[in-house]
Amino acid sequence: MTYNIAIDGPAGAGKSTIARGLAEKLSFIYVDTGALYRAMAYSFLSSGILPEDEAAVSAACTGINVSLAYEDGAQKVCVNGTDVTGEIRREEVGSAASVVSAYPAVRETLLDIQRRIAREHDVIMDGRDIGTNILPGAQLKIYLTASVHTRARRRYDELTQKGVACDLPEIERDIEARDYRDMHREIAPLRVADDAVTVDSSEMTIDEVVDFIYRMAVSGR
Ligand code: C5P
Repeated sequence: MTYNIAIDGPAGAGKSTIARGLAEKLSFIYVDTGALYRAMAYSFLSSGILPEDEAAVSAACTGINVSLAYEDGAQKVCVNGTDVTGEIRREEVGSAASVVSAYPAVRETLLDIQRRIAREHDVIMDGRDIGTNILPGAQLKIYLTASVHTRARRRYDELTQKGVACDLPEIERDIEARDYRDMHREIAPLRVADDAVTVDSSEMTIDEVVDFIYRMAVSGR
């Protein structure tokens, strides 16, 4: 049987950095499920479909094949065979992903790929509904969070370092809007699984969080 670790939480809590660090320490595969939703959103935007148009988005789902590949431990995401790993990181793709991820057709399209990879490999999977919906039987569930201000600040520093001009209050507003959408949608909303351990990373370093979860994973195996 494979060992699955689910890490859920709001945007910018540090899930991907922490999951990547953990995956390396444990020699597990890191599955970034946000990239799957981003890939779907990117595909809709490229075809001129408005994220708000649920009927058009749902109809387009059948023609989209999202797949994951791993190269030296790094995840690559492809849409209908084309590598979109770089393109999906843009802010507008993230916002569109947050809109389309509320549609049942989109979530349904991505369900199998997530469950299959967890059945076949020891994984650390991060997202919004991994512990509650995708992998309810995961051996370890973490709900990773941090204050809105801390998350916005981290995002601001990250973008500024890359030379991208940005505005801190605007990032805060975007994070709040995304939290609201993710927590209040009807299908698979972001919430803490009953058996999840909540970790607030506001006052913790990345290494501290990685070590904390690593110890839990090792003692639970
Ligand atoms: O985590 P990331 O910002 O890349 O995710 C993009 C969007 O995809 C999120 O805002 C969220 O709405 C959606 N998402 C989701 N379920 C997941 C992962 C991401 O609904 N498991």
